[in-house]
Amino acid sequence: MQINLHKKMSKTRYVFVTGGVASSLGKGIISASLGNLLKSRGLKVAIQKLDPYINVDPGTLNPYEHGECYVTEDGAETDLDLGHYERFLNVPTSIHNNVTTGKVYKSVIEKERRGDFLGKTVQVIPHITDEIQHWIKTLASTGNYDFVITEIGGTVGDIESLPYIEAVRQMKWELGDLCVSIHLTLVPYIKAAGELKTKPTQHSVKTLLEQGLQPDIIVCRTEHELSSSIRNKIALFCNVSKEAVIQSIDAESIYEVPLNMRDEGLDIQVLNKTKCTNYHEPEMAQWEDFLYKIKHPKTTVDIALVGKYTALKDAYKSILEAFCHAGATNHCKVNVHRISSEAIEDDNAEDFLKDMDAILVAPGFGGRGIDGKIKAIEYARVNDIPFLGICLGMQCAVIEFARDVVGLKKAHSTEIDPDTQYPVIDLMEDQKKIAGMGGTMRLGNYDCHLINDSLVKNIYNASDIKERHRHRYEFNNEYLDKFTENGMKFTGINLKDNLMEIIELPSKRWFVGVQFHPEYKSTVLSPHPLFVSFVKAAIDYKSSKSNK
Ligand code: GLN
Repeated sequence: MQINLHKKMSKTRYVFVTGGVASSLGKGIISASLGNLLKSRGLKVAIQKLDPYINVDPGTLNPYEHGECYVTEDGAETDLDLGHYERFLNVPTSIHNNVTTGKVYKSVIEKERRGDFLGKTVQVIPHITDEIQHWIKTLASTGNYDFVITEIGGTVGDIESLPYIEAVRQMKWELGDLCVSIHLTLVPYIKAAGELKTKPTQHSVKTLLEQGLQPDIIVCRTEHELSSSIRNKIALFCNVSKEAVIQSIDAESIYEVPLNMRDEGLDIQVLNKTKCTNYHEPEMAQWEDFLYKIKHPKTTVDIALVGKYTALKDAYKSILEAFCHAGATNHCKVNVHRISSEAIEDDNAEDFLKDMDAILVAPGFGGRGIDGKIKAIEYARVNDIPFLGICLGMQCAVIEFARDVVGLKKAHSTEIDPDTQYPVIDLMEDQKKIAGMGGTMRLGNYDCHLINDSLVKNIYNASDIKERHRHRYEFNNEYLDKFTENGMKFTGINLKDNLMEIIELPSKRWFVGVQFHPEYKSTVLSPHPLFVSFVKAAIDYKSSKSNK
């Protein structure tokens, strides 16, 4: 391993990632991949996302609008790109890693009302741009970071992103070589001409230049290899060196991107441009091992993901990724079948679920599709198919058990039926007084004590865990005895507030419901034990079926 430890770095370097031409080119993955490479070179890295929309956070956004809402340990409801950051870097993010225009303006307006700017006209420049820089530098100050990578949401040219680009321009002016700007563009392939086209990239860079920002590195998303002449052309028209034109070719798995970026030298470009020297060669062996396993599975399983957002793959992003990590650990390809809970009716659960090796019922809010979720759980329980219920999925398992086993017909959650005779899931005490919607749920890490002789204690191999939450409703302890008498076991408890966090049916091969969200914690290098065990249960169940 070549060590390059000439001088100890004292200052934080800043990398800004902007996007042009089109959205959905994968800025989040490029940022996370760069973070991954820098970290693998022994550097301390933080990544943040600046989102130009006016919501204070994405917590109140429907997943159709913006995909999954990702929850950090400290209870911030954030953009799903933070999930990529954690999965790629294996370090937790926090409230400082996601900033929105809403948050920026809220803070500036609060300062104005307090009188902090007394006598002054409050303006986009300098007050909003200062506030944006403040959030970037605040993240840097939360750790002794070598690099802070800041991804700017949206596409260059959008009205909303202007103050962000201006803030970057100012920081580059102030900090010089300590800042580097990466612009991600699309190089489309025109089939009729049989050619890759650089013009959209040229235009996008022109737009950035009009705003005063010269990109140092251009990452080109492309379906085909960029030839040397295409790279030359982009370099010439965009004022960057040829080595700073980086190809990001479509990959089978997002987890290949760090290795592709290493091969293209993205990290080296960033290190050279910021004159950083205290790094070593990237240590990617574990990452490569993970990739090998996902590319060469020894077996496959089919797992149903029952939820109401089936048309949108980003709605359950972290769950899908957690399955990928857990699959690799088990040398197994997990085929996740997204099944619309609204399609499952009284008499057709079998049509959807009979070939499944396991069933996961997803988190969610509101009553749409709830009956289908309950039916799917009944099918899993009666047929002893491995089952994992997450948050609303766990609550539905409680409702199903109440109705079909305990005999409390029409038992429900008061979220769906406020007048139910048997409110087995009910609003938590401290939620009853809350009126506003933003950031008011039980959010982030809470302690959970695992009881002896339980499946989960074996799985976690620990007595006390912390998991991330995002909910308002909870198991109603008035029904605890009735449920216990009928065979449900409460194996994870928040002792401080006596909240039932995990349910199990020990008479079944693998039946677990969790009030928290294990999917947020799963990363490539630390797959979540619950998902690993669940996939293993699916593999075992599949082989038990074929041995029959
Ligand atoms: N809607 C339920 C609650 O608020 C479950 C939330 C979830 O699944 N994240 O408790």
